[in-house]
Amino acid sequence: QERLKGFGKDSEFVAQHVHVIGAGVMGGDIAAWCALRGLTVTLQDQNLERIAPAIKRADALFRKKLREPLKVRAAFDRLIPDLAGAGVARADVVIEAIFENVEAKHALFKSLEPRMKPDAILASNTSSLKLEDLRTVLARPERLVGIHFFNPVAMMPLVEVVEAAGADPAAVRAACAFVKQIDKLPLPVKSAPGFLVNAVLAPYMLAAMRAVDEGVAPETVDEAMLAFGMPMGPIELADTVGLDIAMAAGKQLADGAVAPRCLTQRVEQGQLGKKSGQGFYTWT
Ligand code: NAD
Repeated sequence: QERLKGFGKDSEFVAQHVHVIGAGVMGGDIAAWCALRGLTVTLQDQNLERIAPAIKRADALFRKKLREPLKVRAAFDRLIPDLAGAGVARADVVIEAIFENVEAKHALFKSLEPRMKPDAILASNTSSLKLEDLRTVLARPERLVGIHFFNPVAMMPLVEVVEAAGADPAAVRAACAFVKQIDKLPLPVKSAPGFLVNAVLAPYMLAAMRAVDEGVAPETVDEAMLAFGMPMGPIELADTVGLDIAMAAGKQLADGAVAPRCLTQRVEQGQLGKKSGQGFYTWT
């Protein structure tokens, strides 16, 4: 952890205002975390109905972490819903966390870039798309970096800072400095499928599910890995991440290996883990 804290030390970059686009699972929680850490945050989505659940989660986070009503109120005031995206022009960091779709991200980047401050960070939170493909529409493609948070944002200290080939080293250093500024640990990684963490995690979770296919109970697999020292078993982790997402990641990262039966069956039946109430386990 000490080594990770060192990344970004040589950058003078300090952010005051973050603009987040996409108020879903990730964008909403990234915005809340940045507001908790003292930054002004504008949060953009397609309509207010999409932003409302993120604000509700932020409220719960602020109350839990800050306790004092005045501090909670101040954090709340720093988090500003912004349907029109007016915050883009003032932001020091712009983080894209919209649907995982190249065309959608292209259209967004085209409209963002001309409105951004010239030295602001432009970042994508993508888990699986190549930055090299996403940046083709930019006038300054070298400025795009990956700032890849993990779910749930408030609990996961590590953030991967993704450097595509030919990226501006100053932008990567500034991104590391920003991640440190919000009290997370930046891990610089190259642009590669799964970056580092998911490239390691996906085969581990799939191997656990193959054991389930072979008749081992999910609880037994999880208990074994808990006893080994993991904070959470791999099957419970898959339920937490979402089984549809675990399946997509597995497809991308498992070198064409057939997905475990226990996983495909559940996804086909709409049993997606915690978010649907049922996965390998029942969640109430
Ligand atoms: P999500 O579906 O929960 O949220 C996406 C949000 O983006 C929606 O609210 C949608 O209305 C909004 N949106 C779509 N197009 C938009 C546009 N043009 N302008 C404004 N808002 C728009 O998705 P998510 O799970 O939060 O994932 C978002 C990104 O984060 C993806 O790139 C994904 O790969 C990445 N990511 C996801 C996870 C995860 O565990 N879910 C983890 C790390 C990274």
